[in-house]
Amino acid sequence: MHILDIIRKKRDGGTLTKDEIEYFVRGCTDGSIPDYQLSALLMAIYLNGMTHEETAELTLAMAHSGDMADLSAIHGVTVDKHSTGGVGDKTSMVIVPVCAACGVKIAKMSGRGLGHTGGTADKLESIPGMRIDLSPEEFTAQINKIGCAMIGQTGELCPADKKLYALRDVTGTVESVPLIASSIMSKKIASGAERILLDVKTGSGAFMKTTEDAIMLAEEMVEIAKLSGRRAAALITDMDRPLGHAVGNTLEVLEVLETLHGRGPEDLTEECLELAANMIWLGEQAESLEHARKKAKTALETGKAFEKFCEMAEAQGADVRYLREPERFALSPVRKDVCAPRSGYVVHINAEQVGMASVRLGAGREKADDMLDYGAGIVLKKTVGDAVQKGEVIAELYGASAEKCRDAESVLHGAFRYGDEKTEECSLVLARVE
Ligand code: URA
Repeated sequence: MHILDIIRKKRDGGTLTKDEIEYFVRGCTDGSIPDYQLSALLMAIYLNGMTHEETAELTLAMAHSGDMADLSAIHGVTVDKHSTGGVGDKTSMVIVPVCAACGVKIAKMSGRGLGHTGGTADKLESIPGMRIDLSPEEFTAQINKIGCAMIGQTGELCPADKKLYALRDVTGTVESVPLIASSIMSKKIASGAERILLDVKTGSGAFMKTTEDAIMLAEEMVEIAKLSGRRAAALITDMDRPLGHAVGNTLEVLEVLETLHGRGPEDLTEECLELAANMIWLGEQAESLEHARKKAKTALETGKAFEKFCEMAEAQGADVRYLREPERFALSPVRKDVCAPRSGYVVHINAEQVGMASVRLGAGREKADDMLDYGAGIVLKKTVGDAVQKGEVIAELYGASAEKCRDAESVLHGAFRYGDEKTEECSLVLARVE
């Protein structure tokens, strides 16, 4: 078999066989196919697409390119969740304890933030003492004991995806349904969960800018799950504006604690409850989706979810005094108010730009090895649909220096759009695919 024949076949609109796909993924993992040929093939896939079968074969080949987590020692059905990435998306830290409090076994592996999107692994590490590097034995033992664990992704999971993702990033081939679907699902399959809930984001802060494209991606991923003998459901959720008010690691943990006490922002609470209900349903801990919704709400309202979060954090080494007395958390020393330049209504908040402003403050990374400032970030004081007066505070910034805050302020101003009329409220959960 020759890589050049495979590139030519895909360039001319052909369908690759299982053997051809496995050959190219093997060559990608062991380094025998050079980057320029991998890049050419990625561009041919980007331009000509893949059939469902090709996408499923690519997913499985990438999933098997490294370690496969073995969760068979966990008693009961395991459920995982994946978000396609957003700004202020702290839902996992709420959903995992809600679901575990309802009896679902949650084995959650989370990634780090890159670019304008944040990562749950970084947010968890902003809790003093919290370990996200549990060994496989510690991971399964903790899930059996308390029902949930949240860890970072291991280095050996899906090396082929790691390589291809880095190439896609620099060859203009990220926004392709078969490439995104196989990238996400290969990691989910390698990480071992039997049931998967996919939170597919759409809007200005997401990879998929329209609901139609997000549905297409969701359908592809649910189909791959079926073909690989697992069960998945997907919710298409709005990421046209940041979720909740807080963006930045410690600030988001503080908002999660408020939400677990039933005092969180309405949009965040509503979205978390719907995602949690779908996971409870997938994990077979409710008779219907409606019953699952009731269970999720009760777990939040009775404080059981908060206690489960403390139990999980303590088991992973965290100093839970911070969770019970959140005033112990330190924020970055310089605080700056951002004020509205005119009166009217907030008609749009561009999530990607808010994410970029938080990166300028030090809350996110511009390069993969950048150090984070956990206490840096943004608290939005106004959201879409709110009335504002000229000079009124629309956001608070936290950063290590006045310069960082000034820099972020100019980016944040560009994220807000104002108008004379209130915009219609749009639903947070736009569609469901199973
Ligand atoms: N997230 C991934 O893991 N892969 C993609 O291709 C896009 C988002």
